[in-house]
Amino acid sequence: MAQIYDKVALIGLGLIASSMFWAMKRAGVAGHVSGYARSQSTRDTARRIGLCDTVCDSAAEAVKDADLVVLAVPVGAMGAVAAEIGPHLKRGATVTDVGSVKRQVIEAVGPHLPEGVHFVPGHPLAGTEHSGPESGFATLFDNRWCLLVPAEGSDPEAVDRLTRYWRALGSNVDIMDADHHDLVLAVTSHAPHLIAYTMVGVADHLRRVTDSEVIKFSAAGFRDFTRIAASDPTMWRDVFLNNKDATLDILGRFTEELFVLQRAIRMGDGDMLHDYFTRTRAIRRGIIDAGQDTAAPDFGRTKVEK
Ligand code: NAP
Repeated sequence: MAQIYDKVALIGLGLIASSMFWAMKRAGVAGHVSGYARSQSTRDTARRIGLCDTVCDSAAEAVKDADLVVLAVPVGAMGAVAAEIGPHLKRGATVTDVGSVKRQVIEAVGPHLPEGVHFVPGHPLAGTEHSGPESGFATLFDNRWCLLVPAEGSDPEAVDRLTRYWRALGSNVDIMDADHHDLVLAVTSHAPHLIAYTMVGVADHLRRVTDSEVIKFSAAGFRDFTRIAASDPTMWRDVFLNNKDATLDILGRFTEELFVLQRAIRMGDGDMLHDYFTRTRAIRRGIIDAGQDTAAPDFGRTKVEK
């Protein structure tokens, strides 16, 4: 595949940035990749495992002469990182981010970028519950969506180039408005994570059960909640603090639906429950048909337990 950027800088070297690095190497789309993480231990790990062509000891050094700069830190840290790199960006460079929330990130980052630098916010809809520099892998973005959220008046050439870049990394790309993005993600990702955190919290309150049956018999649904609830606490704290309105809107609707189902159970309304679950099953079918998950039992997990 042809090179798309001469130099790419990754700021933050966790799951998403490390996956981008391995996917870039696979696709051959970047001439040189520099990286920076705030902690010495992450930088040491990156050097040890060959993550990035150059690991720099400052963000300013990493972004020097870069054609594409990717902000891959928690949403709440984006503004401070942008302030740090702003004065060191090359004229004509594109800055993008991978944050799970868009409106707040745009407001936090935009003011720190100098004239002549293109800001094209993005969000790859791909991840796992693991984090850190050793958790990335080249295929993370394959057949997943990456949403780009360019501001009005963005340079079309910069948007087109970033689109080609994400396609080369394996993604499908779509363009979306920031507020719409935040609402869609509140439904598909943010509220479900909060519900998983809550369910695991509820089980934790039942200490007696947690000590025995909850763990022993966790195959039935609960185990999938625990996987989601194992996601990085900093990342998810920042998601909720920065996508407050959309998340609260969806949680309000969720609570109403929960009461409807609760009432159906209390009233013994089996038809209502059956109809409801038939509709939700069709949604699952749609996700599988769209190639966004596997129909294999147990999500295609390889069995390790007896
Ligand atoms: P991660 O594996 O936890 O890595 C985060 C990186 O950011 C680390 O290199 C960390 O540096 C750095 N960092 C943390 N706090 C910082 C701060 N206050 N200032 C500067 N750097 C800081 O995270 P990730 O999963 O790659 O997530 C990165 C971004 O991608 C987040 O904005 C997240 O919302 C978004 N995202 C995540 C997923 C997912 O499923 N994980 C999916 C799509 C998008 P140290 O290692 O030195 O601490």
